[in-house]
Amino acid sequence: MLLGILITWTLASGVFPGLTPGLPNTTYWLMGIASTIGLLLSIVFHEMSHSLVARHYGLPIRGITLFIFGGVAEMTSEPARPRDELLMAAAGPAASFVLSALCVGAFLLIGDADGPPAVTAVLWYLGMLNGILALFNLIPAFPLDGGRVLRAALWGWRGDYLWATRIAAGAGNIFGIVLIALGLLEIVQGDFVGGIWRFLIGMFLRGAAAASSNEAAARARLTRIPVGQVMNPNPQTVSPELSIEDFINDYVYHHHHRWFPVTRDGDVLGTVETRQAVAIDRAQWPMVPIVRIMRPLSHDDVVTPETDAFAALEQMRRTGHSRLVVIQQGWLRGILSSRDLLDMLSLDRELGHRQAG
Ligand SMILES: [Zn+2]
Repeated sequence: MLLGILITWTLASGVFPGLTPGLPNTTYWLMGIASTIGLLLSIVFHEMSHSLVARHYGLPIRGITLFIFGGVAEMTSEPARPRDELLMAAAGPAASFVLSALCVGAFLLIGDADGPPAVTAVLWYLGMLNGILALFNLIPAFPLDGGRVLRAALWGWRGDYLWATRIAAGAGNIFGIVLIALGLLEIVQGDFVGGIWRFLIGMFLRGAAAASSNEAAARARLTRIPVGQVMNPNPQTVSPELSIEDFINDYVYHHHHRWFPVTRDGDVLGTVETRQAVAIDRAQWPMVPIVRIMRPLSHDDVVTPETDAFAALEQMRRTGHSRLVVIQQGWLRGILSSRDLLDMLSLDRELGHRQAG
């Protein structure tokens, strides 16, 4: 909102009086407001094009999770095939180019017909803006759209996701440094606001490029690790006849876990967690066996020890189940939580694990 007012003000007091002199002040303000709304819609249109293509290929939309959960949350929503990523990344700039062409076309038509200068100026401005938006995003610096296109192309060419990400992220890093340097130069030369903006965008790009590089490394590592190597091989299980009361007191408080597989004679019947107990009236806890509240085992809960850890992580993301039961030939071999995978990755970092390309 504040940014919107700022942009409107800049346009109304500076840009439009320069483009079309001699109009009343209120007209400049209306032009500023119209252009700011147009700018907002342009950005929404650009982003929507990305997400439409993403949805077409069944990819969840990348989101704010990037900053909250760090690498893994973002990584799991990366496209599975180079072609998907290429089309998804190219959709945004393509949409902006189309908008730009439409605005410039309308500008020429209305201008030829001696239309109101206020309208033509706004159309001209929005046409240029969408063109710049498309061009800036096409710079091959990851994570900008152009950087994603570059990565997808390299990835498709050599089939090496990690290598492709490193090259594209390297370009992102260099472009970030260039922006930071330009920003500092501008600040020294007295353009403080413009300089700060460039500086911050450069910082952001460098950070995002480095994060993506780490994510790709994590993805490559997880793909090579079988679940059997990271799972907890001695999980505590509970019997289906156990009362909720005993489950809470003897298992949840005792073992400090909220989730347990329910087994009888080595057969996994389902899983139970504290959340399911909460749904039952407390007074009933001593009488109700957990078989009544457990979630029966489904396909979504199961992986084998041979499943690769990245596939297991994808399964967690797809199903929303952050803990899985590891079963081999009908036998419980262990349990795997998203926590185990994160712990493994942070251990890697701590031990200075080197990625073998
Ligand atoms: Zn984009």
